[in-house]
Amino acid sequence: MKAVAVTPGQSHSVHLRDVPEPKLTDQPHPHVCKVPQGRAVKIRMLQVGVDATDREINEALYGNAPPGFEHLVIGHESFGQVVEVGDEVYEVKPGDYVTCTVRRPGGSLFDKIGRNDITSEEVYYERGINLCHGFMTEYVVDDAEYVVPVPVKLKHLGVLAEPASVCAKAIEQAYLAQHRLQVWRPRLAYVMGAGQIGLLATMMLRLKGLEVYTLATKPGPHLKQEIAEAYGATYVSTRETSMEKLIKETGKPDIIFEATGNASVCFESMKYLGLNGALIWTSITGGKQEVTVDGAKINLEWVLGNKLLVSSVNGNRGHFELGLQSLSHGVLTYPGVTERILTHPVKGLENYATMMKLLEDKEALKVYVDIQG
Ligand code: BGC
Ligand code: ZN
Repeated sequence: MKAVAVTPGQSHSVHLRDVPEPKLTDQPHPHVCKVPQGRAVKIRMLQVGVDATDREINEALYGNAPPGFEHLVIGHESFGQVVEVGDEVYEVKPGDYVTCTVRRPGGSLFDKIGRNDITSEEVYYERGINLCHGFMTEYVVDDAEYVVPVPVKLKHLGVLAEPASVCAKAIEQAYLAQHRLQVWRPRLAYVMGAGQIGLLATMMLRLKGLEVYTLATKPGPHLKQEIAEAYGATYVSTRETSMEKLIKETGKPDIIFEATGNASVCFESMKYLGLNGALIWTSITGGKQEVTVDGAKINLEWVLGNKLLVSSVNGNRGHFELGLQSLSHGVLTYPGVTERILTHPVKGLENYATMMKLLEDKEALKVYVDIQG
């Protein structure tokens, strides 16, 4: 069967290759964890999304092949349909729509209690990213533990399950951490960045009843602005409105959700957070970028203002469920909006080059491949 892979360590090595179709009895990543007897699920992949992580993997900034392989099958944003299950699987059955979690457990205490998303080991195992083959292929097999059902009525958004899990987790982490305050009623949020993560975070914060400002550089009108506004948020171009002016109008936000991928915005955001607020970092910033800030001022304001920085990455099964619940809630509250994020479908795995090229396009919110063409 066909698979899209890279040769880690070699830049721009993305290619189509032929790999054996997995059998239900195969162990997909025996160097990490074993599928228990009868617990395997075989999935026909329908759609796989790509994001900046895939771009960086193809630029050889990131990612490793599984031991014994020179290639890594990419793809960590999965959506497919179950074709076969082992006799100990009761959660899903053939025909069900599903997505898979990304990270597989290592050996730390967190991994052992089902929290591989916060492993305390340096090395982490992620399908399609690091040391485990991904989902950009025709069929995959995995442990039912990592297979999450997608409601039939949500199948048009199934490929957003993974990015939604990342947003849902990050927001949940902030709320959990804010229990330190005993009472926290956030009212105002800024979302930095209007890519897929920024827009999904906009939706989730709006669903919690917050007033949301979604900030990005480019002045509207454009699709990102339309989507943010359809979620009931206010879109702000930071090229048109300075941060100082915006803060003067709105007051300092209780939450800042950072999703620009730009390290200077991560640190700049510290200047704008309100008292007792939470700054959420979700960007993965590959490469090197030096940032200058007034450290004394930020430290003073953060200490006197009891401010909190929460960083978050990777969802486990509970976060995928939460992400899917938010997507469902979003469909009911803002019908027809979230699918507008799905801007760039690519037909068939053989068009992988077009897919990677589209990742360079700043206007492309979601690039994904329709595997069945
Ligand atoms: C994925 C996460 C993953 C992270 C780091 C992101 O693109 O969405 O699941 O943990 O990359 O590898
Ligand atoms: Zn991702």
